[in-house]
Amino acid sequence: MKRYLYTAVIILVMVVALSLYHIVKSGYSLHDIMHRGDVTWRLKDREIRSRLLAVPIILYHNIDGKGVFSLSLDVMRSHFQLLRERGVRVIRLSTLTERLENPKPFHDKVVVITFDDGFLSMYTKLLPLAREFGYPITLFVYTDNIYHRAEKKLTWAELRELEDSGIEIECHSISHADLKKLSRKKTPESKRQLFEEIYLAKRIVELYLRKRIKYFAFPYGRYDLSLIDLCSNAGYERVFSTDYGSNIITRNNYCLRRRHIKRNTLLMKIESILK
Ligand SMILES: [Zn+2]
Repeated sequence: MKRYLYTAVIILVMVVALSLYHIVKSGYSLHDIMHRGDVTWRLKDREIRSRLLAVPIILYHNIDGKGVFSLSLDVMRSHFQLLRERGVRVIRLSTLTERLENPKPFHDKVVVITFDDGFLSMYTKLLPLAREFGYPITLFVYTDNIYHRAEKKLTWAELRELEDSGIEIECHSISHADLKKLSRKKTPESKRQLFEEIYLAKRIVELYLRKRIKYFAFPYGRYDLSLIDLCSNAGYERVFSTDYGSNIITRNNYCLRRRHIKRNTLLMKIESILK
């Protein structure tokens, strides 16, 4: 009789140990299993977990309210406010790329904000707004758009001020040419221009801003595999397209996607990106 009892205790211990192992492996806490055992909770939990692994990078252009790629300051503010209201944390681009190398889920919903081209509104409107909200932002500039002295254009001195205030500057070519079109030509001239647009542009921004440039955004979001190779050889750590979708941190992609927000993008659409 004692022997049966002994065997039963061993089986019971094994069953408990196995169940605990499955709970730990499933990622749910014992509290979750006991107190919110119904399926909808589990689904919601899983949904949040997948969002914690998928990071959207938002792409804006200008804040002067003119043209399809430019938002008014009020609309821009409402987008920044929405992030705050929804509890979405704005992280640095480098925080995301570090996670790609060391993948683990974020503890909360995060998003990256980028601006392309380098318009004067980056200094006059974005800088005060970014300071007010405390959001780190990355700005991709093309060097032909940056001046030494200008009233209606951004200058290198203003770029340095942006950089000192937490808006990180990265590279977006020299002339904003369609690099995919250039890449197809395969002539000595097109090859030389590609070298300039990708490598020389990096060196120019590095010299003026006295920092190492790590990222390159393709003009018009257009690229091909040979351009990705060129960027990698030029020393860029990551490149950025305007391909639709979020970036999964367990996939260590070199070319990252961005969600382009235009003037006619509805607030509802932005909410769905952040979800
Ligand atoms: Zn651009």
